[in-house]
Amino acid sequence: MKALVKKHAEPGLWLEDVPEPKIGINDVLIKVDRTGVCGTDLHIYNWDDWAKKTIPVPMVVGHEFVGDVVEVGSNVNDFHPGEVVSGEGHVVCGRCRNCLAGRRHLCAHTEGVGVNRPGAFAEYVSLPMSNVWHHADDIDRDVASIFDPFGNAVHTALSFPVLGEDVLITGAGPIGCMAAAVVRYAGARYVVVTDVNDWRLELAQRMGATRTINVKQERIADIQTELGMKEGFDVGLEMSGNPSAFREMLANTCHGGKIAMLGIPSEEIAIDWNEVVFNMLTIKGIYGREMYETWYAMTVMLQGGLNISPVITHRLDYTEYEQAFKLMNSGQSGKVILKW
Ligand code: NAD
Ligand code: ZN
Repeated sequence: MKALVKKHAEPGLWLEDVPEPKIGINDVLIKVDRTGVCGTDLHIYNWDDWAKKTIPVPMVVGHEFVGDVVEVGSNVNDFHPGEVVSGEGHVVCGRCRNCLAGRRHLCAHTEGVGVNRPGAFAEYVSLPMSNVWHHADDIDRDVASIFDPFGNAVHTALSFPVLGEDVLITGAGPIGCMAAAVVRYAGARYVVVTDVNDWRLELAQRMGATRTINVKQERIADIQTELGMKEGFDVGLEMSGNPSAFREMLANTCHGGKIAMLGIPSEEIAIDWNEVVFNMLTIKGIYGREMYETWYAMTVMLQGGLNISPVITHRLDYTEYEQAFKLMNSGQSGKVILKW
């Protein structure tokens, strides 16, 4: 089968013929239909320091996808050929304390699809049945293909109550833009999104931000005054991984405010801890999605009218993957979908 492979320890990906995955008795074989290109894939493509120390070469990459079940192992009763599914990208151990307690997103032994085990940028992918999500009939296939990053947005956005609250989102990447749509849908009052990229801020606006800020030109504190806010944002969603974005967030959060951090910093971030202590802030780290409460919430919000499809800005054939990564590197894209 065709697959996009990290073949050499250097920048790039290679379209290769590789053997089809074999399934075990608990696995599901899926014919991949569409895939989303994630920031993680971009790190792997660009071969940055994180990728160098994380990705064993060769590796079939990719983890955001929708596809059709073609075969199931002999222990699998809940999935059948022809069903439309996506995969949860974190494969957990099932045996640690958190897994046994049902808190699988907190597993300390998580493996990543397309990171530590063969991924979905391929004609077929095999996953344990416990990692397969059966889509409701009315979910659009393009949207279904990005349930993984949509789930990051939902997990972060719904970490703290937002009804009637003012929410600051730092980073208008695809996940920040989807989070803006989610918190608006969940009843937030002001949804202020920051970035340094006007193209992306415009996308955030289209997706539900009530005010966008290019932090190279405007200060968040001034916008609080403009909006008549007196005490700071109630909830912060850090979705850039940028040190100064996080510091600005701390400085603009109200006393007792809550911050959910999804953005992955590439370096240590020094902060003034007095702001955390004296302002009594809660800071929560977010990794992946809750299995499967987040998936359930995504489905019912879409069925209830939430629209995240504007985040998909480009659709290409998988053979055009070089162009997809070029687009992602340019910063002039939301989600890029590859058709297999
Ligand atoms: P992205 O890289 O596309 O978006 C990040 C955005 O932050 C960019 O648009 C960038 O211009 C912006 N930015 C840079 N400096 C900024 C600043 N000073 N202030 C405000 N914005 C700034 O990433 P994404 O795919 O949308 O993902 C968002 C973040 O979440 C990334 O850091 C990603 O690595 C991380 N992530 C975490 C998880 C997890 O499970 N924790 C999963 C997926 C992604
Ligand atoms: Zn575990």
